[in-house]
Amino acid sequence: MLLDIFDPKAPPKAVGIDLGTTHSSVAVMRDGRPVALTTCDGTPLLPSVVHYGAHGTVQVGRTAKAYAEREPARTIASAKRFVGRGAKDEQTALLGSYRFAEGADERVVRFDVGREAPVTPVEVSAEILKSLRQSAIDQLGTLGGAVITVPAYFDDAQRQATKDAAKLAGLEVLRLLNEPTAAALAYGLERQNSGVFAVYDLGGGTFDITILLLEDGIFQVKSTGGDSALGGDDMDRALAERLLRAMGLEDPAARTPELIALALGAAREAKHRLSLAEQVTVSVPRRGGGEAELTLGRQDFEAMIRPLLERTGRACKRALRDAGLSAEQLDGVILVGGSTRAPSVQRYVQELFGREPLVELDPDLVVAYGAAAQADLLARASDEVLLLDVLPLSLGVETMGGGVDRVLPRNTTIPAGARSTFTTYADHQTGFELHVVQGERELASDCRSLARFTLRGIPPMPAGMARLEVSFDVNESGLLTVRARETTTGLEQQIEVQPSYGLTDEQVEDMLLDALDHGEEDLERRRLADARVEGARMVLATEKALAADADLLSDEERRGVEQALAGLRAAAAQATRPGVVQAAIDVLDQRTHAWAGRRMDRAIAGAIAGKQLGDVEGSVAHAAGVEAHLEAHQRGRN
Ligand code: ADP
Ligand code: MG
Repeated sequence: MLLDIFDPKAPPKAVGIDLGTTHSSVAVMRDGRPVALTTCDGTPLLPSVVHYGAHGTVQVGRTAKAYAEREPARTIASAKRFVGRGAKDEQTALLGSYRFAEGADERVVRFDVGREAPVTPVEVSAEILKSLRQSAIDQLGTLGGAVITVPAYFDDAQRQATKDAAKLAGLEVLRLLNEPTAAALAYGLERQNSGVFAVYDLGGGTFDITILLLEDGIFQVKSTGGDSALGGDDMDRALAERLLRAMGLEDPAARTPELIALALGAAREAKHRLSLAEQVTVSVPRRGGGEAELTLGRQDFEAMIRPLLERTGRACKRALRDAGLSAEQLDGVILVGGSTRAPSVQRYVQELFGREPLVELDPDLVVAYGAAAQADLLARASDEVLLLDVLPLSLGVETMGGGVDRVLPRNTTIPAGARSTFTTYADHQTGFELHVVQGERELASDCRSLARFTLRGIPPMPAGMARLEVSFDVNESGLLTVRARETTTGLEQQIEVQPSYGLTDEQVEDMLLDALDHGEEDLERRRLADARVEGARMVLATEKALAADADLLSDEERRGVEQALAGLRAAAAQATRPGVVQAAIDVLDQRTHAWAGRRMDRAIAGAIAGKQLGDVEGSVAHAAGVEAHLEAHQRGRN
């Protein structure tokens, strides 16, 4: 027997986890090569099935799967399909025959597993991850964190749900990684530095095609496609139909669930054997007694699954078209998923793309291998991390008047962080509303709204005195944390932005084109919005100054100021061109100039008499229209 020897001084190893729809696995780098760890089933692949027993027991993997027939409601398979989905989502209704629990919160699906409390897909996934974590600890001694893979098309909510599951399982997530990117990393394609690759992933119940662009060693998803209800299970069903007929069960009414399960099991076994042999013989019980023998050749099988393969082909062509590429332009095709073991599938893919696909690595484990490589890299060299992703769109906040202050510009490599400082607009403003937006347009209303929140409880201060530091942090998985802090009081609030629906590449593209199309017009609208804010602020400040220090003006001066004030008020409210507002600001500025000096003298005299100088200075500066800009005093990357 071989013993694993732990080096107590070695840093804890980080693992890669493929949390799959039908199977999950965990791998680690050993001597520069990825190896799959043994799961609780004694194999590298763990069926992604969880059984909730009547007495509070929870079982995972093969043992759980054995309950699927007897206790279907208590046995959850394919929980990944429900992760991050709402109970009322269209796709949810199309999936599975589980008993869904009625719940107050429609944002999450809940399975009624015959227990007091229903379970969520996040909790089910957490059980699978817990089991994999335990296997890793058993074999490695300690665990330093994990890279978990997710489908490229997962949106923020689904990614966040995956992270929540990991947290529940007690795993430290180093990052989430797209499954196709993981497969490409397993093949070391990033070393080619640039190229375009197709990742063809045919699993048990899903088909995904992803076109990856590699630039400067960084992978980007160019397009995704596929079918969430197409995979090896469909092949099993096609083959089982043939077997059921051989069993003398042409009549669907004669087919009991047990007999169907038997035929499906035999079909799957035959399918797997056909990946190794040209021809296989299956024997099944016959109705009325005896056995039926059936000989199947690869060609029979291929004919049976041809329609399924053609469906994958159409999705691939669409994905190529979406990426603006032809098959000849590809630099490689990678096969992922157990079903690509079938020689018929490999041949079809070769025909489709006109090149031999990469098949050297186990298609069931290639995703976990790539995740392991990435985990190793992240754990070992946290400061020379290979950055694999960039922000597709700028992230920013809405400023007074509806403009956008971009905090993190698009194409910033992630993880990334940046800060922006803001101040209050009105006197005694005790709340500060923050609107987080995504996009390239100049006005917030033209961008995609990600979140809004209010920082409350700021002590009343003159306008411009509060210092609000807003920081944006995008982690390795693309999740955004926005923190707002009022620096004089230390008041702080933060949110994690996880919009329910992610963006497709197409939408990103549309948003970019949109910004280009509207570039000039946007800039003009933005200038107008900013000028109006500036004008309105000056109106306010002047009104305040008039209430306090009108006696420092001669009658004529006063008329001049009031006239200019009315002019600016009208311009700020109605002008359609920024220049008009600016001109009105200039007039008022000029007419209040001498007055501002007198007000300053009075303020200083007052201060000497014991007043708060800061206070007075603030309001004086206002009236004179020389206050610094409201937004974006400083900006710094952190
Ligand atoms: P998922 O990514 O959905 O979790 P997998 O990648 O684990 O799925 O693929 C599971 C599918 O692969 C099953 O339908 C299984 O029957 C099929 N499969 C596994 N091994 C073979 C094989 N040798 N030949 C053909 N199909 C196989
Ligand atoms: Mg898979």
